[in-house]
Amino acid sequence: NTWFDRDLSLAGRCIVEENGKYRQRLVKIEKPILRIPTLAIHLESNRDSFQFNKENHLMPIFAQKVLNGEKPENDKTKHHPEMMDLLAKELNTDVKNIKDFDLVLYDTNKSTLGGLNDEFIFSGRLDNQLMTYTGLQGYINANKDITSLTESSDCRVYVSFDHEEIGSTSDRGADSAFIDTILKRIMKMEVSQTISPTAYQEAIRKSYLCSAHAVHPNYPEKHEALHKPKLNEGMVIKTNFNQRYATTDLTALLFKTIAEKNNLPYQDFVVRNDSPCGSTIGPILSSKLGIRTIDVGCAQLSMHSIRETGGAKDVETSIELFKHYLQEFSELDEKFEIDYE
Ligand SMILES: [Zn+2]
Repeated sequence: NTWFDRDLSLAGRCIVEENGKYRQRLVKIEKPILRIPTLAIHLESNRDSFQFNKENHLMPIFAQKVLNGEKPENDKTKHHPEMMDLLAKELNTDVKNIKDFDLVLYDTNKSTLGGLNDEFIFSGRLDNQLMTYTGLQGYINANKDITSLTESSDCRVYVSFDHEEIGSTSDRGADSAFIDTILKRIMKMEVSQTISPTAYQEAIRKSYLCSAHAVHPNYPEKHEALHKPKLNEGMVIKTNFNQRYATTDLTALLFKTIAEKNNLPYQDFVVRNDSPCGSTIGPILSSKLGIRTIDVGCAQLSMHSIRETGGAKDVETSIELFKHYLQEFSELDEKFEIDYE
């Protein structure tokens, strides 16, 4: 319900026919052109709770009057000509060249630092662009010093998946064949043709996956008393004994050792025994690949709202932690004399 009364606009992908080829073109309309209005509170029969019908009340308003007249009755196109004109103008093409599109609404209100000392980030989609960004930045920083790569036999991989919010089962979600296929392809490229038939399985067994997804610390009664995650106090290590998170004692210890060695903060998070637990792509990838996994993430408030709140300091410390994890994992792993099978 946080999508009501916001200055919304459209962004996404269009398929455009150009010179006999079908190409994808990204589009983002900057101007707020849409709005989903709430009912005035004095007309609400029950003022204590905000209720709405998903079918009737979530329809955004686009325009009061169309300038070029109504859609002709014999017009078989799905969309209104005014909207198609707007898209064509944005894409600098002709309406007839736009073959299809996949557009979503977004909030035009820009992200900002906030709080008395700029300690917060107010933004949309922190879940999960915060971890996508810090993960990628940590990966880039880890590989900047080229000797850290040339002197290592590691293969470092960074991957982010679409469709996590709808269950990860799709052609490109974490529950697809994508990661398995791409790792095998990387191995084929990097290793000679005389590779042992079980080399891939052996490499997976030696590997370690750090799956990063935000954590929601709102409402203290929702969290286990001794394990409440806080904003700006470092990466949260998530454990659930029903394996809704993929962390184990060993994977957590490895990660914590790297954090402590580099003076980086971390926190432990355990879901209350009487509370349902969210999940992440960690358990999916862990069981699919048979890889040792840790589930981590930064704390954030208002998760899944159109405007979420994150900790500004967590950005810095997460990037550092991901960097050190990638650089130091192998050396530390050799010190673990554990029978994983
Ligand atoms: Zn989410």
